[in-house]
Amino acid sequence: MFDYIIVGSGFAGSVCARYLAEAGKSILVLERRPHIGGNAYDCTDENGILIHKYGPHIFHTNEKRVYEYLSRFTEWRKYDHEVLAKAGELEFPVPFNLNSLHKVFDQEKAAKLESKLVAAYGMEKKVPIGEMRESEDADIRELAEFVYKNVFLNYTVKQWGQKPEEIDPGTTARVPVFISRDNRYFQDSYQGMPLYGYTPMFENMLDHPNITVSCSSEARDRLSFEDDIIFDGQKFDGKVIYTGALDELFGYEFGALPYRTLDFGFEHHGVTYYQSHGTVNYTVDEPYTRITEYKYLTGQKKEGSTTIMKEFSRSYRPETEDIPYYAIINDENNSLYQKYLSKAKEYENLLLLGRLAEYKYYNMDKIVSLALQLCDTLTEEK
Ligand code: FAD
Ligand code: UDP
Repeated sequence: MFDYIIVGSGFAGSVCARYLAEAGKSILVLERRPHIGGNAYDCTDENGILIHKYGPHIFHTNEKRVYEYLSRFTEWRKYDHEVLAKAGELEFPVPFNLNSLHKVFDQEKAAKLESKLVAAYGMEKKVPIGEMRESEDADIRELAEFVYKNVFLNYTVKQWGQKPEEIDPGTTARVPVFISRDNRYFQDSYQGMPLYGYTPMFENMLDHPNITVSCSSEARDRLSFEDDIIFDGQKFDGKVIYTGALDELFGYEFGALPYRTLDFGFEHHGVTYYQSHGTVNYTVDEPYTRITEYKYLTGQKKEGSTTIMKEFSRSYRPETEDIPYYAIINDENNSLYQKYLSKAKEYENLLLLGRLAEYKYYNMDKIVSLALQLCDTLTEEK
Protein backbone atom coordinates (compact mmCIF):
# COMPACT_ATOMS: atom_id res chain seq x y z
CA MET A 1 0.00 0.00 0.00
CA PHE A 2 1.16 3.53 -0.72
CA ASP A 3 1.99 6.06 1.99
CA TYR A 4 0.85 8.92 -0.23
CA ILE A 5 -1.47 9.30 -3.18
CA ILE A 6 -0.70 12.50 -5.04
CA VAL A 7 -3.28 13.79 -7.49
CA GLY A 8 -1.62 15.79 -10.27
CA SER A 9 1.91 15.77 -11.67
CA GLY A 10 2.48 19.52 -12.07
CA PHE A 11 5.00 21.39 -9.93
CA ALA A 12 2.93 20.84 -6.77
CA GLY A 13 2.53 17.09 -7.22
CA SER A 14 5.97 16.34 -8.64
CA VAL A 15 8.00 18.24 -6.05
CA CYS A 16 6.05 16.59 -3.22
CA ALA A 17 6.44 13.17 -4.81
CA ARG A 18 10.20 13.49 -5.06
CA TYR A 19 10.72 14.99 -1.61
CA LEU A 20 8.58 12.36 0.12
CA ALA A 21 10.07 9.51 -1.92
CA GLU A 22 13.53 10.55 -0.76
CA ALA A 23 12.19 10.54 2.80
CA GLY A 24 11.44 6.84 2.31
CA LYS A 25 7.72 7.08 1.55
CA SER A 26 6.03 5.15 -1.23
CA ILE A 27 4.12 7.38 -3.60
CA LEU A 28 1.44 6.94 -6.23
CA VAL A 29 0.94 9.88 -8.59
CA LEU A 30 -2.38 9.93 -10.44
CA GLU A 31 -2.43 12.22 -13.47
CA ARG A 32 -5.48 12.44 -15.70
CA ARG A 33 -3.58 13.82 -18.69
CA PRO A 34 -1.56 11.44 -20.84
CA HIS A 35 1.63 13.21 -19.70
CA ILE A 36 3.35 14.64 -16.62
CA GLY A 37 4.26 18.27 -15.88
CA GLY A 38 0.83 19.90 -15.49
CA ASN A 39 0.56 23.21 -17.29
CA ALA A 40 4.34 23.49 -17.60
CA TYR A 41 4.46 20.48 -19.95
CA ASP A 42 6.39 21.04 -23.18
CA CYS A 43 6.83 18.89 -26.27
CA THR A 44 7.99 19.04 -29.87
CA ASP A 45 5.30 19.88 -32.43
CA GLU A 46 4.92 18.31 -35.91
CA ASN A 47 7.44 20.81 -37.26
CA GLY A 48 10.12 19.92 -34.76
CA ILE A 49 9.68 23.09 -32.69
CA LEU A 50 9.68 22.82 -28.89
CA ILE A 51 6.41 24.33 -27.66
CA HIS A 52 4.60 24.77 -24.35
CA LYS A 53 1.24 23.15 -24.89
CA TYR A 54 -0.56 25.07 -22.13
CA GLY A 55 0.89 28.55 -22.59
CA PRO A 56 4.32 30.16 -22.27
CA HIS A 57 6.18 29.34 -19.05
CA ILE A 58 9.24 31.33 -18.03
CA PHE A 59 10.90 30.36 -14.78
CA HIS A 60 11.84 33.13 -12.35
CA THR A 61 12.37 33.26 -8.60
CA ASN A 62 14.08 35.13 -5.82
CA GLU A 63 14.15 32.01 -3.66
CA LYS A 64 17.53 30.32 -3.68
CA ARG A 65 16.06 27.15 -2.19
CA VAL A 66 13.57 26.82 -5.04
CA TYR A 67 16.22 27.39 -7.69
CA GLU A 68 18.62 24.95 -6.06
CA TYR A 69 15.96 22.28 -5.63
CA LEU A 70 14.97 22.37 -9.29
CA SER A 71 18.63 22.54 -10.32
CA ARG A 72 18.99 18.96 -9.11
CA PHE A 73 16.80 17.93 -12.06
CA THR A 74 17.83 20.30 -14.81
CA GLU A 75 20.53 22.58 -16.10
CA TRP A 76 19.40 26.03 -17.12
CA ARG A 77 19.53 28.21 -20.17
CA LYS A 78 20.00 31.86 -19.33
CA TYR A 79 16.97 33.71 -20.66
CA ASP A 80 15.75 37.19 -19.82
CA HIS A 81 12.17 37.50 -21.01
CA GLU A 82 11.31 40.79 -22.71
CA VAL A 83 7.82 41.72 -23.86
CA LEU A 84 6.88 44.27 -26.48
CA ALA A 85 3.48 45.95 -26.37
CA LYS A 86 1.71 46.78 -29.60
CA ALA A 87 -0.88 49.50 -29.02
CA GLY A 88 -2.21 50.50 -32.41
CA GLU A 89 0.78 52.07 -34.20
CA LEU A 90 2.82 52.32 -31.00
CA GLU A 91 5.39 49.75 -29.89
CA PHE A 92 7.15 49.89 -26.53
CA PRO A 93 8.47 47.62 -23.77
CA VAL A 94 6.14 46.32 -21.03
CA PRO A 95 6.22 46.67 -18.09
CA PHE A 96 5.94 50.32 -19.15
CA ASN A 97 9.32 51.83 -18.16
CA LEU A 98 11.54 54.81 -18.88
CA ASN A 99 12.49 53.35 -22.27
CA SER A 100 8.78 53.04 -23.09
CA LEU A 101 8.31 56.66 -22.10
CA HIS A 102 10.95 57.79 -24.61
CA LYS A 103 9.43 55.55 -27.31
CA VAL A 104 5.98 57.09 -27.10
CA PHE A 105 6.58 60.78 -26.30
CA ASP A 106 8.82 63.42 -27.86
CA GLN A 107 12.19 64.11 -26.26
CA GLU A 108 11.07 67.16 -24.29
CA LYS A 109 7.92 65.63 -22.84
CA ALA A 110 9.62 62.31 -22.06
CA ALA A 111 12.49 64.05 -20.27
CA LYS A 112 10.10 66.14 -18.18
CA LEU A 113 8.00 63.11 -17.21
CA GLU A 114 11.10 61.08 -16.45
CA SER A 115 12.37 63.64 -13.92
CA LYS A 116 8.93 63.87 -12.34
CA LEU A 117 8.66 60.09 -12.01
CA VAL A 118 12.13 59.74 -10.55
CA ALA A 119 11.48 62.57 -8.09
CA ALA A 120 8.11 61.12 -7.06
CA TYR A 121 9.01 57.44 -6.78
CA GLY A 122 12.79 57.01 -7.16
CA MET A 123 14.77 54.96 -9.69
CA GLU A 124 14.15 51.20 -9.95
CA LYS A 125 10.79 51.55 -8.19
CA LYS A 126 7.70 49.64 -9.33
CA VAL A 127 4.42 51.50 -9.18
CA PRO A 128 1.08 49.74 -9.67
CA ILE A 129 -1.04 51.52 -12.25
CA GLY A 130 -3.90 51.98 -9.76
CA GLU A 131 -1.54 53.90 -7.45
CA MET A 132 -0.10 56.03 -10.25
CA ARG A 133 -3.58 57.06 -11.38
CA GLU A 134 -4.04 58.62 -7.94
CA SER A 135 -0.90 60.75 -8.07
CA GLU A 136 -1.23 64.33 -6.88
CA ASP A 137 0.81 65.51 -9.86
CA ALA A 138 -1.36 66.30 -12.90
CA ASP A 139 1.38 65.32 -15.39
CA ILE A 140 1.92 61.96 -13.70
CA ARG A 141 -1.84 61.40 -13.65
CA GLU A 142 -2.00 62.18 -17.35
CA LEU A 143 0.79 59.69 -18.02
CA ALA A 144 -1.01 57.11 -15.86
CA GLU A 145 -4.14 57.56 -17.98
CA PHE A 146 -2.08 57.00 -21.11
CA VAL A 147 -0.60 53.80 -19.68
CA TYR A 148 -3.98 52.70 -18.37
CA LYS A 149 -5.55 53.07 -21.82
CA ASN A 150 -2.65 51.76 -23.88
CA VAL A 151 -1.40 48.93 -21.67
CA PHE A 152 -4.07 47.79 -19.24
CA LEU A 153 -7.63 48.56 -20.27
CA ASN A 154 -8.25 46.46 -23.37
CA TYR A 155 -5.78 43.73 -22.48
CA THR A 156 -7.46 43.25 -19.10
CA VAL A 157 -10.94 43.28 -20.62
CA LYS A 158 -9.78 40.59 -23.09
CA GLN A 159 -8.10 38.54 -20.37
CA TRP A 160 -10.67 38.85 -17.57
CA GLY A 161 -13.87 40.18 -19.17
CA GLN A 162 -13.59 43.05 -16.68
CA LYS A 163 -11.83 46.41 -16.39
CA PRO A 164 -8.61 46.76 -14.38
CA GLU A 165 -10.39 48.51 -11.50
CA GLU A 166 -12.96 45.68 -11.29
CA ILE A 167 -10.42 42.86 -10.79
CA ASP A 168 -8.14 42.02 -7.87
CA PRO A 169 -5.55 44.86 -7.73
CA GLY A 170 -2.81 42.25 -7.21
CA THR A 171 -3.33 41.10 -10.79
CA THR A 172 -2.37 44.31 -12.62
CA ALA A 173 0.26 44.97 -9.94
CA ARG A 174 2.13 41.96 -11.42
CA VAL A 175 3.04 44.32 -14.29
CA PRO A 176 3.65 47.71 -12.61
CA VAL A 177 5.04 50.84 -14.20
CA PHE A 178 8.78 50.45 -13.70
CA ILE A 179 10.89 53.55 -13.10
CA SER A 180 13.89 51.97 -14.78
CA ARG A 181 15.75 51.38 -18.03
CA ASP A 182 15.52 47.63 -17.45
CA ASN A 183 13.39 46.09 -20.22
CA ARG A 184 13.14 42.64 -18.65
CA TYR A 185 9.66 41.37 -17.73
CA PHE A 186 10.99 39.94 -14.45
CA GLN A 187 13.73 41.22 -12.15
CA ASP A 188 14.12 38.06 -10.04
CA SER A 189 17.63 36.96 -9.10
CA TYR A 190 17.20 33.59 -10.79
CA GLN A 191 15.51 33.36 -14.18
CA GLY A 192 15.79 31.14 -17.18
CA MET A 193 14.49 28.05 -18.89
CA PRO A 194 15.22 24.37 -18.21
CA LEU A 195 17.97 23.65 -20.74
CA TYR A 196 16.30 20.59 -22.29
CA GLY A 197 12.73 21.71 -21.55
CA TYR A 198 10.31 21.32 -18.63
CA THR A 199 9.19 17.77 -19.40
CA PRO A 200 12.68 16.21 -19.04
CA MET A 201 13.03 18.08 -15.74
CA PHE A 202 9.77 16.52 -14.51
CA GLU A 203 10.87 13.10 -15.79
CA ASN A 204 14.06 13.38 -13.73
CA MET A 205 12.13 14.52 -10.68
CA LEU A 206 9.66 11.64 -10.84
CA ASP A 207 12.33 9.05 -11.65
CA HIS A 208 12.71 7.43 -8.22
CA PRO A 209 12.14 3.83 -7.12
CA ASN A 210 9.56 4.93 -4.52
CA ILE A 211 7.41 6.76 -7.08
CA THR A 212 4.79 5.14 -9.29
CA VAL A 213 3.33 7.48 -11.89
CA SER A 214 0.03 6.62 -13.50
CA CYS A 215 -0.88 8.91 -16.41
CA SER A 216 -4.32 8.96 -18.08
CA SER A 217 -5.67 8.17 -14.60
CA GLU A 218 -8.64 10.15 -13.39
CA ALA A 219 -8.32 10.32 -9.60
CA ARG A 220 -12.05 10.41 -9.01
CA ASP A 221 -12.33 6.96 -10.61
CA ARG A 222 -10.19 5.52 -7.83
CA LEU A 223 -10.68 7.85 -4.87
CA SER A 224 -13.92 8.77 -3.18
CA PHE A 225 -14.65 10.94 -0.19
CA GLU A 226 -17.18 9.33 2.12
CA ASP A 227 -16.84 9.14 5.91
CA ASP A 228 -13.23 8.28 5.10
CA ILE A 229 -11.13 8.52 1.98
CA ILE A 230 -11.74 5.38 -0.07
CA PHE A 231 -9.12 4.20 -2.57
CA ASP A 232 -9.92 1.33 -4.93
CA GLY A 233 -12.86 0.41 -2.69
CA GLN A 234 -10.88 0.30 0.58
CA LYS A 235 -10.35 2.83 3.37
CA PHE A 236 -7.08 4.65 2.66
CA ASP A 237 -4.98 5.28 5.76
CA GLY A 238 -2.15 7.13 4.04
CA LYS A 239 -2.28 10.77 3.02
CA VAL A 240 -3.70 12.27 -0.17
CA ILE A 241 -2.09 15.39 -1.63
CA TYR A 242 -4.63 16.84 -4.03
CA THR A 243 -3.52 19.48 -6.56
CA GLY A 244 -6.66 19.67 -8.73
CA ALA A 245 -9.73 21.91 -8.46
CA LEU A 246 -11.64 21.59 -5.20
CA ASP A 247 -15.15 22.21 -6.52
CA GLU A 248 -14.64 19.36 -8.97
CA LEU A 249 -13.40 17.03 -6.23
CA PHE A 250 -16.61 17.55 -4.29
CA GLY A 251 -18.96 17.30 -7.28
CA TYR A 252 -19.65 21.07 -7.46
CA GLU A 253 -21.78 20.60 -4.35
CA PHE A 254 -21.81 24.32 -3.46
CA GLY A 255 -21.69 25.55 -7.07
CA ALA A 256 -18.83 25.89 -9.56
CA LEU A 257 -15.83 28.10 -8.77
CA PRO A 258 -15.39 30.66 -11.58
CA TYR A 259 -12.23 30.51 -13.70
CA ARG A 260 -10.92 31.91 -16.97
CA THR A 261 -9.77 29.45 -19.55
CA LEU A 262 -7.68 29.97 -22.69
CA ASP A 263 -7.90 28.82 -26.28
CA PHE A 264 -4.48 28.55 -27.88
CA GLY A 265 -4.02 29.29 -31.58
CA PHE A 266 -0.80 27.61 -32.72
CA GLU A 267 0.54 28.66 -36.12
CA HIS A 268 3.57 27.46 -37.98
CA HIS A 269 5.41 29.91 -40.25
CA GLY A 270 8.12 29.25 -42.81
CA VAL A 271 10.39 32.01 -41.53
CA THR A 272 13.28 31.89 -39.08
CA TYR A 273 11.62 34.41 -36.74
CA TYR A 274 8.04 35.73 -36.89
CA GLN A 275 8.36 38.63 -34.42
CA SER A 276 11.06 40.64 -32.63
CA HIS A 277 10.47 39.40 -29.06
CA GLY A 278 9.53 36.20 -27.24
CA THR A 279 6.15 37.68 -26.45
CA VAL A 280 4.25 40.56 -28.02
CA ASN A 281 1.25 41.83 -26.04
CA TYR A 282 -1.63 43.24 -28.10
CA THR A 283 -2.75 45.78 -25.59
CA VAL A 284 -5.32 47.66 -27.68
CA ASP A 285 -6.41 45.75 -30.79
CA GLU A 286 -6.90 42.12 -31.86
CA PRO A 287 -9.08 39.55 -30.11
CA TYR A 288 -6.09 37.72 -28.61
CA THR A 289 -4.03 39.03 -25.70
CA ARG A 290 -0.53 38.01 -26.77
CA ILE A 291 1.57 36.10 -29.25
CA THR A 292 4.49 34.02 -28.04
CA GLU A 293 7.18 32.71 -30.35
CA TYR A 294 8.68 29.72 -28.60
CA LYS A 295 12.12 29.72 -30.22
CA TYR A 296 13.04 32.86 -28.27
CA LEU A 297 12.17 31.17 -24.97
CA THR A 298 13.77 27.82 -25.64
CA GLY A 299 16.76 29.07 -27.62
CA GLN A 300 16.06 26.51 -30.34
CA LYS A 301 17.82 27.30 -33.63
CA LYS A 302 15.96 26.39 -36.82
CA GLU A 303 16.28 28.11 -40.17
CA GLY A 304 13.07 28.99 -41.98
CA SER A 305 10.71 27.43 -39.44
CA THR A 306 8.99 28.79 -36.35
CA THR A 307 5.87 28.20 -34.27
CA ILE A 308 3.88 30.97 -32.61
CA MET A 309 0.90 30.85 -30.30
CA LYS A 310 -1.97 33.28 -29.82
CA GLU A 311 -3.88 33.31 -26.52
CA PHE A 312 -7.63 33.87 -26.48
CA SER A 313 -9.21 34.13 -23.04
CA ARG A 314 -12.82 33.33 -22.15
CA SER A 315 -15.04 32.07 -19.30
CA TYR A 316 -14.38 28.54 -18.20
CA ARG A 317 -17.35 26.15 -18.47
CA PRO A 318 -17.35 23.57 -15.68
CA GLU A 319 -17.92 19.91 -16.54
CA THR A 320 -16.60 20.36 -20.09
CA GLU A 321 -13.15 19.78 -21.57
CA ASP A 322 -12.20 23.37 -20.66
CA ILE A 323 -9.10 23.71 -18.50
CA PRO A 324 -9.38 26.10 -15.52
CA TYR A 325 -6.28 28.26 -15.96
CA TYR A 326 -6.91 31.36 -13.87
CA ALA A 327 -8.87 31.59 -10.61
CA ILE A 328 -10.94 34.78 -10.56
CA ILE A 329 -9.97 36.29 -7.25
CA ASN A 330 -12.72 38.31 -5.52
CA ASP A 331 -14.61 38.22 -2.22
CA GLU A 332 -17.58 36.28 -3.56
CA ASN A 333 -15.44 33.56 -5.14
CA ASN A 334 -13.16 33.39 -2.12
CA SER A 335 -16.12 32.73 0.16
CA LEU A 336 -17.39 30.00 -2.16
CA TYR A 337 -13.91 28.50 -2.07
CA GLN A 338 -13.98 28.63 1.76
CA LYS A 339 -17.04 26.34 1.75
CA TYR A 340 -15.09 23.72 -0.17
CA LEU A 341 -12.12 24.24 2.09
CA SER A 342 -14.23 23.59 5.20
CA LYS A 343 -15.48 20.40 3.61
CA ALA A 344 -11.93 19.33 2.73
CA LYS A 345 -10.85 19.90 6.33
CA GLU A 346 -13.26 17.15 7.42
CA TYR A 347 -10.65 14.72 6.06
CA GLU A 348 -7.56 14.92 8.21
CA ASN A 349 -5.52 12.92 5.71
CA LEU A 350 -6.39 15.21 2.77
CA LEU A 351 -3.84 17.92 1.97
CA LEU A 352 -4.40 20.64 -0.63
CA LEU A 353 -1.64 22.24 -2.63
CA GLY A 354 -1.30 24.16 -5.87
CA ARG A 355 -2.79 26.83 -8.05
CA LEU A 356 -6.08 24.97 -8.52
CA ALA A 357 -6.49 23.36 -5.11
CA GLU A 358 -5.79 26.66 -3.34
CA TYR A 359 -7.70 28.79 -5.88
CA LYS A 360 -4.78 31.25 -6.14
CA TYR A 361 -2.80 33.05 -8.86
CA TYR A 362 0.53 31.38 -8.11
CA ASN A 363 3.65 31.36 -10.26
CA MET A 364 5.64 28.14 -10.61
CA ASP A 365 8.28 29.11 -8.06
CA LYS A 366 5.68 29.84 -5.39
CA ILE A 367 4.22 26.38 -5.87
CA VAL A 368 7.67 24.79 -5.55
CA SER A 369 8.30 26.81 -2.40
CA LEU A 370 4.97 25.79 -0.85
CA ALA A 371 5.53 22.14 -1.81
CA LEU A 372 8.93 22.14 -0.09
CA GLN A 373 7.44 23.74 3.01
CA LEU A 374 4.58 21.26 3.13
CA CYS A 375 6.98 18.34 2.85
CA ASP A 376 9.26 19.85 5.53
CA THR A 377 6.26 19.69 7.86
CA LEU A 378 5.16 16.23 6.76
CA THR A 379 8.58 14.72 7.27
CA GLU A 380 9.02 16.39 10.68
CA GLU A 381 5.74 14.70 11.81
CA LYS A 382 6.05 11.07 12.59
P1 FAD B 1 -0.94 22.32 -12.62
O1 FAD B 1 0.27 22.57 -13.40
O2 FAD B 1 -2.26 22.78 -13.14
O3 FAD B 1 -1.03 20.76 -12.32
C1 FAD B 1 -2.19 20.15 -11.81
C2 FAD B 1 -2.27 18.76 -12.42
O4 FAD B 1 -3.30 18.02 -11.76
C3 FAD B 1 -2.63 18.79 -13.90
O5 FAD B 1 -1.68 18.07 -14.63
C4 FAD B 1 -4.01 18.12 -13.94
O6 FAD B 1 -4.21 17.37 -15.13
C5 FAD B 1 -3.96 17.22 -12.73
N1 FAD B 1 -5.28 16.90 -12.20
C6 FAD B 1 -6.23 17.75 -11.78
N2 FAD B 1 -7.32 17.09 -11.36
C7 FAD B 1 -7.06 15.77 -11.50
C8 FAD B 1 -7.79 14.57 -11.25
N3 FAD B 1 -9.03 14.61 -10.75
N4 FAD B 1 -7.20 13.38 -11.51
C9 FAD B 1 -5.94 13.31 -12.01
N5 FAD B 1 -5.21 14.43 -12.29
C10 FAD B 1 -5.76 15.63 -12.03
N6 FAD B 1 4.21 30.58 -13.87
C11 FAD B 1 5.48 31.07 -13.91
O7 FAD B 1 6.19 31.01 -12.90
N7 FAD B 1 5.98 31.64 -15.06
C12 FAD B 1 5.25 31.71 -16.20
O8 FAD B 1 5.74 32.22 -17.23
C13 FAD B 1 3.92 31.20 -16.19
N8 FAD B 1 3.17 31.27 -17.30
C14 FAD B 1 1.89 30.79 -17.27
C15 FAD B 1 1.13 30.90 -18.43
C16 FAD B 1 -0.18 30.43 -18.44
C17 FAD B 1 -1.00 30.55 -19.68
C18 FAD B 1 -0.72 29.85 -17.25
C19 FAD B 1 -2.14 29.36 -17.23
C20 FAD B 1 0.04 29.74 -16.10
C21 FAD B 1 1.35 30.22 -16.09
N9 FAD B 1 2.16 30.11 -14.96
C22 FAD B 1 3.43 30.62 -14.98
C23 FAD B 1 1.67 29.48 -13.72
C24 FAD B 1 2.02 27.99 -13.67
O9 FAD B 1 1.35 27.33 -14.74
C25 FAD B 1 1.55 27.41 -12.34
O10 FAD B 1 2.12 28.09 -11.26
C26 FAD B 1 1.90 25.93 -12.18
O11 FAD B 1 1.66 25.19 -13.34
C27 FAD B 1 1.07 25.38 -11.06
O12 FAD B 1 1.43 24.05 -10.81
P2 FAD B 1 0.36 23.10 -10.10
O13 FAD B 1 1.04 21.80 -9.88
O14 FAD B 1 -0.27 23.79 -8.94
O15 FAD B 1 -0.84 22.97 -11.16
N1 UDP C 1 -1.71 43.26 -18.10
C1 UDP C 1 -2.19 44.18 -19.01
N2 UDP C 1 -1.43 44.48 -20.11
C2 UDP C 1 -0.24 43.91 -20.34
C3 UDP C 1 0.25 42.97 -19.42
C4 UDP C 1 -0.53 42.65 -18.31
O1 UDP C 1 -3.29 44.70 -18.83
O2 UDP C 1 0.40 44.22 -21.36
C5 UDP C 1 -2.55 42.96 -16.91
C6 UDP C 1 -3.65 41.96 -17.24
O3 UDP C 1 -4.76 42.22 -16.42
C7 UDP C 1 -2.97 40.65 -16.88
C8 UDP C 1 -2.21 41.03 -15.63
O4 UDP C 1 -1.75 42.38 -15.89
O5 UDP C 1 -3.91 39.61 -16.64
C9 UDP C 1 -1.07 40.14 -15.25
O6 UDP C 1 -0.18 40.03 -16.36
P1 UDP C 1 0.83 38.81 -16.49
O7 UDP C 1 1.67 39.05 -17.69
O8 UDP C 1 1.51 38.60 -15.20
O9 UDP C 1 -0.19 37.61 -16.77
P2 UDP C 1 0.04 36.03 -16.99
O10 UDP C 1 1.35 35.87 -17.67
O11 UDP C 1 -0.02 35.43 -15.63
O12 UDP C 1 -1.13 35.66 -17.84
